[in-house]
Order: sequence, then structure tokens, then C-alpha cells
Amino acid sequence: MAYELPPLPYDYAALEPFIDAETMHLHHDKHHQAYITNVNGALEKHPELASKSVDALIADLAAIPEDIRTVVRNNGGGHANHSIFWTLMGPVGLPHVGGAPTGPIAEQITADFGDFETFKKTFNEATAKQFGSGWGWLVFQGGKLKIVTTANQDSPLSQGLFPILGNDVWEHAYYLKYQNRRPEYLAAWWNVVNWAEINKRFATAKG
Ligand code: MN
Repeated sequence: MAYELPPLPYDYAALEPFIDAETMHLHHDKHHQAYITNVNGALEKHPELASKSVDALIADLAAIPEDIRTVVRNNGGGHANHSIFWTLMGPVGLPHVGGAPTGPIAEQITADFGDFETFKKTFNEATAKQFGSGWGWLVFQGGKLKIVTTANQDSPLSQGLFPILGNDVWEHAYYLKYQNRRPEYLAAWWNVVNWAEINKRFATAKG
């Protein structure tokens, strides 16, 4: 079955003033939809792959026929990354959104980075430096949290890594409000991070 755009799990204006409603409309309804349309188009040529979840599809790029591999890598990756991304954020004002992390992820951040401020600074610096379009991620590898970046729509899943948290630094994610000021967007983004969801994903990453 063809992939479908998952509805945004909150109102388009729920992330204001940190991420504006117009950006969310374009980002979710147009950009995410385009990745889905493109990956669905590619899979029409190889319908035997259509029963796979998008995460399973991009976790094994070597299994994708060569004639559609790049399209699947870019657009299947775009679908997978954005499907995660919406859930990593939540409405401003909810107790588990923004502010300092709580629960097991808070303890692991303290263990691996010293404190939350140092973690944020390290994540923001690494992600600000991602040249061109890409993503910054938090993964759990060898018993430790690790910050990694990927170019374009490459997913950590393709490297066997489960993303716990991630931020989109394509210009389409921030340009309307922040223009060229990526570091300002990165700093503001922590106000909408959904720590309840991050703790769920951390539990999955630990297995
Ligand atoms: Mn995006």
C-alpha cells in the first residue's frame, strides 16, 4: 500500500512563537507530502517492496533495486525523518514540552555530557556546522548517547542507528522566520522538544 502523510499530531500554530504556523503548513503539507509522493512513485516500479514500512525500507538500502535506490534514499528518508520529527515536538505550554529533560534521558544526558546546557551547546554547534541541508541527531551507541549529523535526507536508520531525537536544518524548516540565522532557530527549537516522546524513543533505543 502506498505511503500516506501522517496528520500533524497538534495544531499548526501549537509551536508558536518558536516555529510559526506558516512554516509548519509548508513543511508538513508540501515538503513532507512531496517526499511521500516521490517514494510512492518509485515503488510503483517495484511493488514487491510496497509492503515494507518506510523505516524497514531505508534500513536496508542495499536491498533496494539500483534504478530506484537514490530516489528511495532521498525521499523514503525524507518521509521517515519527517514522520519522526513531528512527534519529537509538542505544543508549547505542556509540562513535558520544552524546559529541561526529565526521566531516564535526563540521567543519561548528565552521565554522557555533564549537564543539559553542555549537551544543548554541543548539539547546536554540531548541527549548525552541517554544511547545506541535513539533520542533527541523538543516537545511543555502545551504551552512550552520541550526536551525529547526516546530509540531505539520510537517516541514522540506514547506518543501523535508532534516532532518539533529531532536528531538521534544511532551510525550509526555518527560513521564513529565521532567514539565514540557523543558530537562532537551533536555540529556539529546544522550547518545543517533547521530552515524553524522547524518553519513549530512548527506551526503544536501549532495547
Ligand atoms: Mn524538512
